[in-house]
Amino acid sequence: MRYLILSDIHANLDALQAVLHEADRLTYDRVLVLGDLVGYGAQPNEVIDEIRALDPLAIIRGNHDKVAAGIEGADGFNPIAQQAAEWTYKTLTPENRLYLSTRPLGPIFVDGDTEICHGSPGDEDAYITSELAALRALKQSERPVCFYGHTHVPVAFRLTDTGFEVVAGRSNGERQVTIERGMQYLINPGSVGQPRDGDPRAAFALFERDPRVVTLYRTPYPVERAQERIVEAGLPETLARRLALGR
Ligand code: ZN
Repeated sequence: MRYLILSDIHANLDALQAVLHEADRLTYDRVLVLGDLVGYGAQPNEVIDEIRALDPLAIIRGNHDKVAAGIEGADGFNPIAQQAAEWTYKTLTPENRLYLSTRPLGPIFVDGDTEICHGSPGDEDAYITSELAALRALKQSERPVCFYGHTHVPVAFRLTDTGFEVVAGRSNGERQVTIERGMQYLINPGSVGQPRDGDPRAAFALFERDPRVVTLYRTPYPVERAQERIVEAGLPETLARRLALGR
C-alpha cells in the first residue's frame, strides 16, 4: 500500500494537476488529504471536483475550508485572506460548499501506523513553527506517523527514546524518511498550491507502507498560468506574486 499525501492545495488546479501527473508516474494506491483545499487560488470548484474524483481514503478540513464553506467567520484572517475567502464562498457551487462544510475535523486515524491532522493533533488551527511545538505535537499524536499541514513547509521530525530531531526538510529536493520501529514521526508534506519555504514548486509526499518509507517530493508546475487565473478572477494580486516566490 502506498499513500499519496496532499495538503494545502488552496484552489491551485495547475499545481494539483502537476502533482497528480507526477504521482501517477511514481504510482500510489490511496490518497490522504490534510485540508485547505481552497482559499487564495482561483479554481476552488475545479480542485474540489478533482479531489472528489480521487475518492480519498481520508480527508479532513483546514481553516480556510471552514471559512470558505461558511461554518466559521474570517475574523482570524488577514485582509487579503478574508477577501479570498469571501470570493471563494461566493464562487463555490452549493454542492461543493456542502462537501467542504462536511469534511471532518482532524485528527483522523487512517490505520495502525498513520494519523492525519491539519494544524496539530491537539488543535486543528495551531501552527507547528518551532521545535517546541513539534515536540508537543509528537507527544499528542497517537500513531507512529502523524502527517500535518497548515504551515506550508515540508519537514519531518522524529522522537526517539533518547531525543528529538529534525530528519528531513529545510532544503530543496527529494527527501526520504525511513520509519523505524519504536520511534514516532511528525511529517509535513508541504503545500501543493502555495509553498512557503522559498521553493515555488508544488510539494507532496508518498508513504510506502512496506517497508515503511516516507518520501517528500517537489514538482514544477506552470506558475504563470495559476497567477493569470488569480488576476483574472479579481483576487488580490499579491496572491499571484507570492506563488512565484514560494512565500
Ligand atoms: Zn493552508
